Amino acid sequence: MKLNNNNTSNSKNGNQKIMKFEELGIIKPLLKAITEKKYSEPTSIQVKAIPLVLKRNDVLGCAQTGTGKTAAFAIPILQHLYHERRGKSNSRKIRSLVITPTRELAIQIAESFTNYGKFTGIKNTVIFGGVKQKAQTDALRQGVDILVATPGRLLDLMNQGFIRLKDVEYFVLDEADRMLDMGFIHDIRKIIAKLPVQRQSLFFSATMPKNIVELSRKILRNPIKVEVSPEAPTVEIIQQYLYYTNRASKKDLLLHILQDSDIKHVLLFSRTKHGCDRIVRNLKKQKIKSAAIHGDKTQNQRQKALAQFKVREIRVLVATDIAARGIDINKLEYVINYDIPNIAETYVHRIGRTGRAGEEGNAISICEPEENAYIKDIEKLIRRKIVIVKENPFPQTEKPMTANEKKEWEKEKQQRKQEFFAARRKKQNRLK
Ligand code: AMP
Repeated sequence: MKLNNNNTSNSKNGNQKIMKFEELGIIKPLLKAITEKKYSEPTSIQVKAIPLVLKRNDVLGCAQTGTGKTAAFAIPILQHLYHERRGKSNSRKIRSLVITPTRELAIQIAESFTNYGKFTGIKNTVIFGGVKQKAQTDALRQGVDILVATPGRLLDLMNQGFIRLKDVEYFVLDEADRMLDMGFIHDIRKIIAKLPVQRQSLFFSATMPKNIVELSRKILRNPIKVEVSPEAPTVEIIQQYLYYTNRASKKDLLLHILQDSDIKHVLLFSRTKHGCDRIVRNLKKQKIKSAAIHGDKTQNQRQKALAQFKVREIRVLVATDIAARGIDINKLEYVINYDIPNIAETYVHRIGRTGRAGEEGNAISICEPEENAYIKDIEKLIRRKIVIVKENPFPQTEKPMTANEKKEWEKEKQQRKQEFFAARRKKQNRLK
């Protein structure tokens, strides 16, 4: 298995030698676990970051999910902890803390630590909100070396006295840009304030806007920057197709696309939670097995949908960007964008769910007139044209709104929204 990366030891001077895990200075118990995972060679971010982390540098990593970045920090941290734990008694302290924005990511990172650390005796646990805390506090009481957490639950358990961070030596802030998008900045500040000053810190973000760089300065000391180009996976192995259509015909177009029996298993993105639910309702009417995951679903509902999707009991998993963050499904062949994101990086991120670990992937995007302009930004970022599908029974016939029309439309939308909430309040008051 191979992730799609130009994992050369030194691509700057043209040396195209493929690195091996053995050459990165990784110890045997970890190499054994890597072999079990059937990774034949390290990815680009792993080649770059692992030696730096082993040498105890702080690292500023510009990389997104799908590049193998979890292993890039998990493997060297496990190695540090393994060396330091040898010969010690059984008592454990939290010596490494990883914070990440979503529960799904947290679970996956903890699973990665468990997998890679299988032969090291290093223990981890994961905590996240939206579920009862008892199982989590029980696990913490038993003692762990590594804690993977979402910020809210971490602070909550710190405030209740279940967690102290005074022994943390290795700190990872994962998906920093998402973390800020989700409004976690205050939580992060509070957490950082409780960390020991003497520590090694690793900071990962898919994008590096100014506020992220500023935040990284508060966390890292003399960091070394490592970068893997975000567009690499889309450019090389993902087939990208585009349907131009009208807003009203999107749902019929989707059904038309799904008539293709080759599309057996697809992750579909929708910008909003309501949008996700609407799409699932429409698909179910057509007897297409589907489920939605988004922030309004309970943790159990999300886990169930994801599990059913993984074993292919459902064909279409409909997700918002945030809920889909970090979902790691092997051999995901298709991604459908039911809308075009207005941030080009989000498109790259979405379609990065497919074509993982060297498998071929397909991304199909459905674009309404209002989204036409976003395609230009995306094509600029990925430096290629997306193939427009000509066989389209619902072609785009409408034009994007003019500025005035848009203003009117927004006004009407606001009004409808207010009416909806007013009616709901009235109904709730009646029920009281
Ligand atoms: P991540 O970017 O950490 O979310 O990893 C994305 C996927 O790549 C996960 O399914 C990993 O198990 C897989 N992966 C990580 N490193 C490698 C590697 N060196 N070779 C093949 N697959 C990998």
